[in-house]
Amino acid sequence: MKGKALAKICLVLALVLGLSACATVPYTGRTQFVLMNPQQELSLGQQAAQQVRQESRVSTDPRYTNQVQRVGQRIAMAANQHDYPWSFTTIEDESLNAFALPGGKVFVNTGMVDFASSDAQLATVIAHEVAHVIARHGAERMSRVLVAQVGGAALAGAFNIQTPAGRQAFETAYGLATNVGVILPHSRSQELEADRIGLILMAKAGYNPSEAIDFWSRMMRAKDGPAPPPFLSTHPADEERLRAIRSLIPEAMRHYSP
Ligand SMILES: [Zn+2]
Repeated sequence: MKGKALAKICLVLALVLGLSACATVPYTGRTQFVLMNPQQELSLGQQAAQQVRQESRVSTDPRYTNQVQRVGQRIAMAANQHDYPWSFTTIEDESLNAFALPGGKVFVNTGMVDFASSDAQLATVIAHEVAHVIARHGAERMSRVLVAQVGGAALAGAFNIQTPAGRQAFETAYGLATNVGVILPHSRSQELEADRIGLILMAKAGYNPSEAIDFWSRMMRAKDGPAPPPFLSTHPADEERLRAIRSLIPEAMRHYSP
């Protein structure tokens, strides 16, 4: 659905059902369809984060946790969304992976920290994940799943995350029902949007956005190794992505001061 048509539908829903079903993505200004409010999103994210922490090995090794905290907090500051209870957790796992849950719960594997050769490179992946959070991509995807699963009922205001339907939509949207920590891929357009916002956040936090080129180029080469990184099952690192990122650097540079 394109912006203008979507905005119209949102307005109609708001007037007829008293339901606020639209939000605007920061930095890109895109109108998006989201059925849940940030509070509901946050509570879902918190529950899921707890599940992730229980089912994985949380690292307490300061060589990793300090760097993840340092970079994460700087990106969170740049994101300027103080309502989100940001947390940056390091998971002891050699595989290359990082993901974020709604409401600002970000997880980074120790393998990803090793792979990123500097704070700026780690900032590339953390800023990308933070961008998914502030663009509310999870809530957006969940809203689509919900409409597909329960259709009109959700639009009639029956939506509640505590109901089995709400819970199921969340689990489907995040793939949590089958495999905790394995987040289903976002759409290509959400990925591009997260790249664009992520580069801006990186720059605002004082990291040179050009570092993202090296990060993604190396990620592309990692793909040909013996065990393809889990991160690449959700984030295609290909020429198309690199080209898109290159074209977004000038916009991000306007926000950069070292
Ligand atoms: Zn992504």
